[in-house]
Amino acid sequence: MYWNPHIEQADLPTLRALQAQRLRDTIAHAERSPFYGALFAKCGISTDSIRSVEDIRRLPFTTKEDLRSHFPYGFLTVDKKDTVRLHCSSGTTGNPTVIFHNRHDLDSWSNLVARSLYCAGVRDTDVFQNICGYGLFTGGLGFQYGAERLGALVIPAAAGNTTRQIRLMQDFATTAVHTIPSYLFRLHTAFAEMGLDPARDTALRLFVIGAEPHTEEQRRRIEDLFGVKAFNSYGLSEMNGPGVAFECTCQNGLHVWEDCFLTEIVHPQTLEPVVEGEVGELVFTTLDRQAMPLVRYRTRDLTRFLPGTCPCGRNHRRIDRISGRTDDMFIVKGCNIFPMQIEKILMRFAQVGTDYLILLQTRNGVDEITIQVEMQAAWFTGDLAALEKLARQIVHEVRDEILVTPTVQLVEPGSLPKSEGKAVRVRDERQA
Ligand code: ADP
Ligand code: ZN
Repeated sequence: MYWNPHIEQADLPTLRALQAQRLRDTIAHAERSPFYGALFAKCGISTDSIRSVEDIRRLPFTTKEDLRSHFPYGFLTVDKKDTVRLHCSSGTTGNPTVIFHNRHDLDSWSNLVARSLYCAGVRDTDVFQNICGYGLFTGGLGFQYGAERLGALVIPAAAGNTTRQIRLMQDFATTAVHTIPSYLFRLHTAFAEMGLDPARDTALRLFVIGAEPHTEEQRRRIEDLFGVKAFNSYGLSEMNGPGVAFECTCQNGLHVWEDCFLTEIVHPQTLEPVVEGEVGELVFTTLDRQAMPLVRYRTRDLTRFLPGTCPCGRNHRRIDRISGRTDDMFIVKGCNIFPMQIEKILMRFAQVGTDYLILLQTRNGVDEITIQVEMQAAWFTGDLAALEKLARQIVHEVRDEILVTPTVQLVEPGSLPKSEGKAVRVRDERQA
């Protein structure tokens, strides 16, 4: 049932005591870095400041800007010769940031990914095809070493070349795939173009999807299209990469691995903890990292803690799927809008395909939203009256959700630009 029963089933007092001990160790490591050394001295913080996990609130936050302004070595706690690998974030929101690991850190990370995969149902009998960028992006090597640690047969397929991906799946009877959710739709189209049906012509049984925001509706579509269960994987380079929070087979939120990440959810403006169960910004403190520990790192990702215990028996708290990032949000006519609010509505329409683009433009000094929506091939017919009616329905439902009236353009399947990596959902063409 569990990869690491001792940790996964630990009761809460045991888990909190372990966290407090590891938090002290983390502070001791962190103060050896130039950045935290100076910061802790300024704030009068030492390991003595920490008696319990609640004392985390005495510590200052760390931001992406801090990482950037102390690039590249300002957070390093060990001699450079003792580090063995570095990774960078994808740079979705600006300059990349760099994270260094020593041997211990990589070992701990591989265990976390193995634990995560096991928790979603991957086993050593699986053939695990890892379809994502290898290199600086953490999804490649992160899942590679984690799935190897688990004992699966790993195909380091990397990203792109969809025909070859399908061939690999057939040649080696791939059973589990990790990739970004938007790619699975492209993969499905390729299967159809090759006259293949994944349910009939492959051994696929499980997907691990993550690295980009997606709605529950999008996940269900993936599961229906392939007849394969899809599990949500959350992580970020600053917290190693994958293996921070993962869905178990109950698919009712993501367990955060609390032995390795002290997790808080705070109000993005006041930085005070939100009321339990409310949405706020995720903040993590690493609890098992030596070369580059991070204290109260503000992820900008928005979610909430889910109440109750999980039937799987793991006591590590669950978070809801990420509803957006604070820097994803755009403001139109005074309304704060997240792309996932729009995706959620679009995916309710069976006629709608899987790709869409939200265009923000200024016309006559007024901000406007245009949503270009790819249709399902079967519905993209010459029946203009039906298309217009559908567009009107979508406008209506989106307006109810975001409180701004968009323009909806229904476009041909496959006509929107596809990005190589994470899907780009918003194009902001407004004049500053
Ligand atoms: P970048 O910030 O440049 O995209 P990363 O490659 O480290 O850098 O990506 C981490 C980010 O990807 C997270 O902070 C989060 O916004 C997003 N992300 C990762 N996994 C998920 C997921 N399962 N659901 C939604 N968003 C995710
Ligand atoms: Zn569970």
